[in-house]
Amino acid sequence: MTEQPYWNVEAQTLPPDTLAKLQTERLREAVAQAARAPFFADRLAAAGVRPDDIREPADVALLPRFSKADIRESEQRTPPIGDYRPHGLDRAVRIAMSTGTTGRPTAMIWTRRDLGVECELSARNHYRHGIRPGMVVVSAHPGYLNGGQGLQQAAYEHLGCLLVSIGPPDSVDAAERALRSIAELPIDRWQLFPSALLRLREAAARIGFDGLPEPEEIGPLTQYTKISAGMECVAYLGSSCGRSDGSHLAEDYALVEAVDPVTGEPVPDGQRGQLVVTSLGRDNPMLRYDLEDVVRIDASPCPCGETTRRGFWEGRAKDIVEVAGRQVLPIDVWRHLDPAAEYVIIRPERPADRLAIRVEGARDTAVEDALTEAVGVPVDVTWVGTGELPRAAYKAQRVVPAGS
Ligand SMILES: [Zn+2]
Repeated sequence: MTEQPYWNVEAQTLPPDTLAKLQTERLREAVAQAARAPFFADRLAAAGVRPDDIREPADVALLPRFSKADIRESEQRTPPIGDYRPHGLDRAVRIAMSTGTTGRPTAMIWTRRDLGVECELSARNHYRHGIRPGMVVVSAHPGYLNGGQGLQQAAYEHLGCLLVSIGPPDSVDAAERALRSIAELPIDRWQLFPSALLRLREAAARIGFDGLPEPEEIGPLTQYTKISAGMECVAYLGSSCGRSDGSHLAEDYALVEAVDPVTGEPVPDGQRGQLVVTSLGRDNPMLRYDLEDVVRIDASPCPCGETTRRGFWEGRAKDIVEVAGRQVLPIDVWRHLDPAAEYVIIRPERPADRLAIRVEGARDTAVEDALTEAVGVPVDVTWVGTGELPRAAYKAQRVVPAGS
């Protein structure tokens, strides 16, 4: 018996017209559903849009955009979970809170149906990466109220895998304790953020533990191998099939746009724009959520046979550094460095015509030249010793203010 090529063959190879029809139906349902929540009802009324106005997927552009600040404001006005969902805590089977590092933490809840959608999309993603029922997978996602670990747990159970959650190692000692405790398990796969992998590798070298992925496997281009619209919208938005660049988007459960942040108009295919997502097929839909992430979308066909467009996650809009009229993101720098090197970009205090970065390692003029050529402005590299830049247990801060 040959193995099926995709987790969900029918959904992942929908012909374009069938997909468009499904998206239109689901968008109409999402608008009708969202209109039962005051947050969206007000916005739909102000825009003068009703469910019957949705005749094709492109009609999503009739809907107003909103951002995380609007969600925070809604939760502040109507605590504790805001007024942007038609279904509240009585229908929820799971809750999580954002970290709140950039303001008031926001609440995420899942109904059984919405959790089911995430598990389905997660299974597609993991299946593309060769994960199969029966495997043992180690993850370092944070637990507690952070929903990532819980969501992963549900998703791997749905797929039929055994997930071993070690939590993010915040020191090499913590990484060593984690490795010692799982050393005898028959581990098939690791799912790690770059910062966690680096800590674990330091610990593995100390105790002679084999089997961790190589740092090359966490290089800059791996940030194109998966894409998320956040746990509050569509956590498992898509992933790469490995046959081409970018991540296949779950377009039956999300309308994905890359727009000009100022005009809100779609940017041409292949250009950087701001990620705007409308979730479909859920009890609690999000209509045109501006994730404040930078993406590119590629509509060209993929040799793997999946029929969706592919998305490239370029970074956070807040991490854009403007130098001499150019917009630079961490990935523009990282792709020219040793993938395991710690580095930070310095955000200039006033308009600058040179980009300043700090990198751990011995001076390498070839790297400096490559950076200047690739970024298109002169790049000043300050090389520092190993261990001098801050280590992150979870997600690294790659852009720091001048003087820090
Ligand atoms: Zn593909």
